Amino acid sequence: MSHVAELVVLQEIDAEGAAARAALASVEARLLGDDELDEARRTLITVEAERAAILSSQRKLEAEVERLNDRIAPEEKRLYDGSVRNPKELTGIQHELELLKTTRGHHEDALVEVLDRAEAVDRQHSEAQRSVAALEERWSHAQEELRLEARRLADAITRIDQRREAQKAKVPPRLLATYEDLRARKGGTAVARVRGNTCSGCRISIPDALRSRALAGVVVAQCPSCERILHA
Ligand SMILES: [Zn+2]
Repeated sequence: MSHVAELVVLQEIDAEGAAARAALASVEARLLGDDELDEARRTLITVEAERAAILSSQRKLEAEVERLNDRIAPEEKRLYDGSVRNPKELTGIQHELELLKTTRGHHEDALVEVLDRAEAVDRQHSEAQRSVAALEERWSHAQEELRLEARRLADAITRIDQRREAQKAKVPPRLLATYEDLRARKGGTAVARVRGNTCSGCRISIPDALRSRALAGVVVAQCPSCERILHA
């Protein structure tokens, strides 16, 4: 096999290595976390905060209603047990009771609303919990698979690197240096096929004499436009 043909093999191995490394990077990025699970956890935290706030206003309203009940009961007792006979005083008690009951009514209305909201938020809370649990399970399976995939890719990369070392040994050092330099500068493609009378690397036509030399494969020919090593 000519040196250029050996370089073509090396380039194929390098392409395989690059693909495996890109796949491993993607698997490693996915191992960093599950966006959907993060989102579900954030939703759960929001719903829990809302639930706590509703519970707190429920407690406050219930305490307020209880406080008003404690004030209403003795006033009602005084109104009806005959202990107060003064009509002015009785009217005063009635008036006070009306005020207390109106206030209690407002609190009770508010409490009904809060209890409705509590019910809705409880449903949201159960949903959010179920969603987090399902996604956690999915994530745990996915992680297992991703870890296996990462190990498989790492092994593949090791084997590709070993093949690369063996293949490198078949190419003279100066040509290898040219290849490495071009590979770094030309997006991973250092060797380009001659297609018709053009270089497949840059699609610019190649002078006939150079083309013949490249096709013969005896000497190393580089594309005058993109510098890539040409092969038949
Ligand atoms: Zn070219």
